[in-house]
Amino acid sequence: MTKSKSFKRRQFLQLSSTAVLAGLSGKITGNQLSPGNVSLIEAATSKVGILPRRKLGYSGREVSIIIGAGDMSPAVTEAAVKCGINYWHKASSWMREGVPDIIMKNREEHYCQVTVDRVDGNHYDGRLDEDEHYNYVKTAVKETGLGYFDDMQLHYGYHNVEELKNDRSFIRAFERLKKEGLVKHLCLSQHSYAGSPRVENGESAAKILTEIIKDGHYEHAQFMYSYDDDPEMDEFIKYASENNFGTTAMKTARGLGRMKQDSAFMSRLPDNISPHNALVRWLTTETLLDNIVLRVKNMSELEDSYSGAGKKPGQEDMQALNLVKAEANKNACRLCGKCQSACPQHIPITDIFRFERYAMDDHDWEKAAALYEGLPVKGNICTNCNTCTKSCPLNLDIPGKLEKIHTYMS
Ligand code: SF4
Ligand code: SF4
Repeated sequence: MTKSKSFKRRQFLQLSSTAVLAGLSGKITGNQLSPGNVSLIEAATSKVGILPRRKLGYSGREVSIIIGAGDMSPAVTEAAVKCGINYWHKASSWMREGVPDIIMKNREEHYCQVTVDRVDGNHYDGRLDEDEHYNYVKTAVKETGLGYFDDMQLHYGYHNVEELKNDRSFIRAFERLKKEGLVKHLCLSQHSYAGSPRVENGESAAKILTEIIKDGHYEHAQFMYSYDDDPEMDEFIKYASENNFGTTAMKTARGLGRMKQDSAFMSRLPDNISPHNALVRWLTTETLLDNIVLRVKNMSELEDSYSGAGKKPGQEDMQALNLVKAEANKNACRLCGKCQSACPQHIPITDIFRFERYAMDDHDWEKAAALYEGLPVKGNICTNCNTCTKSCPLNLDIPGKLEKIHTYMS
């Protein structure tokens, strides 16, 4: 990170209502831990134990209640495998650095997913292309050396139901690859495009996913889900469960990263209760979800969060979650997209707030700034008309947040 970017990051966090810098500069990332550091890995895995598994979709595969990701550090990956994680989202990213030995030596015990993006653009303006997707997956199979991928994922999903019905390129690419034994199941991660200024006739994730189930080609899906009321998505999850369609929640820790940096907030939680642990307990026992993604960067985060998997939240966990929810609702966007269509300036509000979450909650400032830089329209054209805030269920100060984010990300 350049000096000026680092400085801006500090200012951004200082101006944010809950962030306190203490602890950020000294955080230990997974990469700093040697994969050979057996004692740290053993200590974390013995605290977590072996994660429960659930049957996923029509295949009935037994998949860990928390799934891993191909971009986890080697040490965290090793610990995750020891905790029983057997499903790897973004396994295609191992094209760059190779498949971790602990997975490769027991290839058949793991489910590895190739994540496929649109071509000739991003997930808004890119297109689906049968041949290009087919060729990409073939390359990924060869370069990773995995032999096949268990799942082929359409990254970011469809823009609307009409696109699902009329553009079968992705499904055709999958069917060709399946005949060759290179992929087994079809899945997607679905974002909400309702009201998006960047696609025509965008629809909500729940609406598109419900049609995906009726369409019958996909086995399971990832989508954004966290604490707080989400009736539309809850209805979809119930429908998915009744129809043997697999469900994985992602972006589950709304606002938690920034709260953990706020010592005043943390002191209000019941003693010895970790918000991430309480969240994992709730997501894995009190919902109909099959499994979840919860990003961890180091051994202590893994130990803290994953040790809650499959355990019922106690009274104090729920007390902590209620405090977390109230705090998040003051500042952390739910990415529901309800404000999008209201903006006469066509500012991609949800995207900008998603990038803010990368910065504030994942502390991935570089990724957030790079994504913000790539936006065709940014927060600086906001006219402060406040039309959007009337649609926001959290009544967030959208123009104020846009101004702050623009100042420190551009
Ligand atoms: S306040 Fe800004 S973001 Fe909100 S609708 Fe007006 S111009 Fe768009
Ligand atoms: S700003 Fe409000 S309405 Fe817009 S996506 Fe976030 S929570 Fe939803």
